[in-house]
Amino acid sequence: MELLTNRAKTVSNKRLTWVERLYFPAIAIGLEITLRHFFKKKVTLRYPEEQRPFSAVYRGRHVLKRDEEGRERCTACGLCALACPAEAITMIASERKPGEEGLYREEKYAAVYEINMLRCIFCGLCEEACPKQAIYLTDRITQSDYHRGEFIYGKYKLVEPVELDKRIDITKRMDKNALNLIA
Ligand code: SF4
Ligand code: SF4
Repeated sequence: MELLTNRAKTVSNKRLTWVERLYFPAIAIGLEITLRHFFKKKVTLRYPEEQRPFSAVYRGRHVLKRDEEGRERCTACGLCALACPAEAITMIASERKPGEEGLYREEKYAAVYEINMLRCIFCGLCEEACPKQAIYLTDRITQSDYHRGEFIYGKYKLVEPVELDKRIDITKRMDKNALNLIA
């Protein structure tokens, strides 16, 4: 039968010599490999103190954007949920009441908006489907947790802060030249 590779070795049952039973050659070979890697440039980082720069097209944790006046842009149209292949998005729509014009940009808004981060595959289709430029994926990482329930991100985790200096910067994702790289 023709072999697929030339790496096959014939197993021998011969008894080990006295020197071989001391395992010195094997230990020396192991130490030599360790020493070689000791002086090589490290590929690992001391995360989270050190962080690797992200690509401009990296798709991480979502943000629900506000407009210039601090109002929520999402109008609970459901297109993002419809586009989501992982069925990770759920929402409950509500009618804006008189006096709430400063909170919600449209007459309809998402009273509840949740993304199940355990289902999300970070494909970005929700972002593409949104007609209101309300949802974007960012370069932030979804944090680890011990409880599955913590991965259901509600509005308290998704909507960006009202304060202008605390808004989530999505200019990189809006850079069409960068996004074209993944087309
Ligand atoms: S990134 Fe993809 S999988 Fe995740 S919520 Fe958006 S559409 Fe769904
Ligand atoms: S995020 Fe965009 S697509 Fe999704 S419900 Fe809100 S407005 Fe519609």
